[in-house]
Amino acid sequence: MKIDTEDVVIVGAGIIGLACGYRLLQEGRSVLWVDPKSPGSGASYGNAGTIADYAVMPVGSPSVLKRLPQLLFDSESPLSMQPGALAMLAPWLAKFAYQSLPGPMAKNMRAIAALVLDAGSRWQELARAIAVEDHFKNEGCLYVYRDAAALRRGKHEMALRAEAGVDVVFLTPTELSELEPQWPAVDGGAAFFPKSLFVTDPGDLANKLANAGANIGGRFLTESVKDLSNERESVVMTLTNGRRIRAHKVVISAGAYSKGLAAKAGDKTPLITERGYHLEFEGQANRVQRPICVADQGFYMTPMAGRLRVAGTVELGGVDSKPSPHRLSGLIQQAQAVFPDLGSPQRTWLGFRPSLPDSRPILSPSSQSDRIVYAYGHGHIGLTLAPISAEIVAALIGGRSPPCDISAYSVQRFSQWRG
Ligand SMILES: Cc1cc2nc3c(=O)[nH]c(=O)nc-3n(C[C@H](O)[C@H](O)[C@H](O)COP(=O)(O)OP(=O)(O)OC[C@H]3O[C@@H](n4cnc5c(N)ncnc54)[C@H](O)[C@@H]3O)c2cc1C
Repeated sequence: MKIDTEDVVIVGAGIIGLACGYRLLQEGRSVLWVDPKSPGSGASYGNAGTIADYAVMPVGSPSVLKRLPQLLFDSESPLSMQPGALAMLAPWLAKFAYQSLPGPMAKNMRAIAALVLDAGSRWQELARAIAVEDHFKNEGCLYVYRDAAALRRGKHEMALRAEAGVDVVFLTPTELSELEPQWPAVDGGAAFFPKSLFVTDPGDLANKLANAGANIGGRFLTESVKDLSNERESVVMTLTNGRRIRAHKVVISAGAYSKGLAAKAGDKTPLITERGYHLEFEGQANRVQRPICVADQGFYMTPMAGRLRVAGTVELGGVDSKPSPHRLSGLIQQAQAVFPDLGSPQRTWLGFRPSLPDSRPILSPSSQSDRIVYAYGHGHIGLTLAPISAEIVAALIGGRSPPCDISAYSVQRFSQWRG
């Protein structure tokens, strides 16, 4: 059977794969995206929309480690585990626990900070290129502390963020009410990130990026990559329909589904999914002016185009099981505790964050061949990191030096881990 030969194939058209492909097209490469679903319909569709240039904290930290057993086994906590998932998750949890110790955490934080701090300006540049500046709002973002204990914990964490270069200002309860008049009074106050942007429709943003790519020659194939093998001068992929494609270069950006593909390319990576949910309330966008995270409950309320999106929480588990009804009802109750007259959501959604134990993405050539480049594992900040990921990937594909030191995002870091 004849095999078509492509220049660059991008496996997975979420916000990461789309941004990588668009950047490569801008540089004159020929790009084919392969994805069984419509572009941007995975995790990239339903996130909280924050360009989180303040999100330098890895998920694992000493304070999370201290509370880990309590968090995991309380099905209502912001970081819970699906019932029955412990055996499958144990190796990942052991790595996560180690990465939560003070030394590894500080290292992870520096690595994340090096990617996120400029995320706003990088997104603004990309937004200008594809003419979607109106999808971005520049109103900052808030972490709200409901009581003094939450504020105390928040102050410690915010001091670490400020040290890492994040702009953060504390607001008293009165100042919070002035900024967000509809938010109910709290005893603690808030942390305000004045510079951060948010997106009013992440799904539509991904669509616009896909269309912009198509307008400059990018092509989409609605198929799934089942297998890949590295040959001397190319990479050959087998699709689920049996067809084979040969490519000079391949980018693996299949989000939470990347682990198996990387394994075929010769790399074992500890990727799991942190399942996250959203609810949408039509006509309620004006409840808040900017994304507000209720710090001790781990969810955001973001004003989106025509609706309020309530998004967040972490449920460790797999990609195959259905949404957990108790997680959705818990999130509805938490949203209604903020705004008792909110009513019921018109839509609910479950998405899969691609998560590694050290909260750093993999942005790196495969260990076997620089024809295969990885761009996955962005966890909680994939929307934020799409433009910088694309710059790094385009440099790797083009054989140039990346825009920053990328050793902290290498796939090879896992081969040095024990277990
Ligand atoms: C509730 C929630 C809130 C979040 N909030 C934020 C936020 O405010 N800010 C932020 O920066 N990030 C946020 N995130 C994280 C962010 O959404 C993700 O990190 C990001 O979307 C990951 O993008 P991706 O392109 O890697 O994955 P995805 O968007 O999941 O895309 C992966 C694509 O790969 C395709 N695929 C899978 N298998 C194959 C295969 N074998 N062959 C071909 N294609 C394949 C899939 O169909 C999919 O389209 C949030 C996530 C969740 C769940």
